[in-house]
Amino acid sequence: MAHGGVNCEDSELVRRALFKAVLAGSGGARVSCLSGVEEAIKVLEDDPMFNAGYGSVLNRLGEVEMDAAIMDGTGNRLGIVAGIAGVEHPISVARRLLEKGDAVFLAGTGALRFARESGFAPPSRDLRSPEQREVWEAIRANEGRYPPGVDPFTGFTMCRPGPSRPGKFPCDTVGCIVMDDQYRIACGTSTGGYAYKPPGRIGDSAVPGAGFWAGTWGAVVCSGKGEAFMELLLARRVEEWLKDGLSPQQAAEKAIEVLQAEKGVIGGVLVLHRDGRWGKASNAMTFPAAVARDGKVDFLSKVDKGWPPEASR
Ligand code: ASP
Repeated sequence: MAHGGVNCEDSELVRRALFKAVLAGSGGARVSCLSGVEEAIKVLEDDPMFNAGYGSVLNRLGEVEMDAAIMDGTGNRLGIVAGIAGVEHPISVARRLLEKGDAVFLAGTGALRFARESGFAPPSRDLRSPEQREVWEAIRANEGRYPPGVDPFTGFTMCRPGPSRPGKFPCDTVGCIVMDDQYRIACGTSTGGYAYKPPGRIGDSAVPGAGFWAGTWGAVVCSGKGEAFMELLLARRVEEWLKDGLSPQQAAEKAIEVLQAEKGVIGGVLVLHRDGRWGKASNAMTFPAAVARDGKVDFLSKVDKGWPPEASR
């Protein structure tokens, strides 16, 4: 299952991209959960609609700085890169760190050095998409404030095509969870953060237990105001609630209630229980996701909840 972030337009175009991602992530029994997560997220990092990889939002200096993380919930293994620039697929660098690194978490120039030493070449294209450059110019021209209607998470005006992308709509941080038929589970995230962020800012997508978590009871991926997710350590708490017996839908809803009550910010939470049930909740305008299961893909819009329907649990 994969999501396109909070305030990501729930359009046919986005559904097609999520469809492609979840199919890439569920490529047969030979693919490990970690490979599934990496492949799904790579598809979204390549797509300029999403705030991840190419097309990431720009920081105050007009640069891309990305966070990505991958976690194996079976052995509690982690790979995280934060504030990284100069790679096309931060999720793949995070995966390599999980597999081979002497560390689990690298930031900035150290993360880039690890990437180069591991054979990751510079990107084949400038990661700053023309659309995000225009967004950055518009914010700068407005003295660092978001012009009316501009969404910090996507950099675009909500629910309208971006300046030079007729027919295309803005998307946000991406997250993915994969479980195999042995009930092994893994999750991952990738993001450019928020538009016009201070250089060096690292968000919850890079912080285990805040913006993502995979453990004994299930896995969680989040999107929204990263500072709040970090201060509340929300993803880890969701797993605790699963352990306490809440359904994944109840746990997802409780996370959003806590986020709203304690921080008053927007977010979205996607939860997969080890028993195959899932939950999804958000207080944002949209939080589209796709779920691939038994060769079939379902799309979840903002109003769609988890599976199975609560009444039959
Ligand atoms: N959580 C991400 C961050 O704060 C942004 C997002 O999900 O929209 O970096």
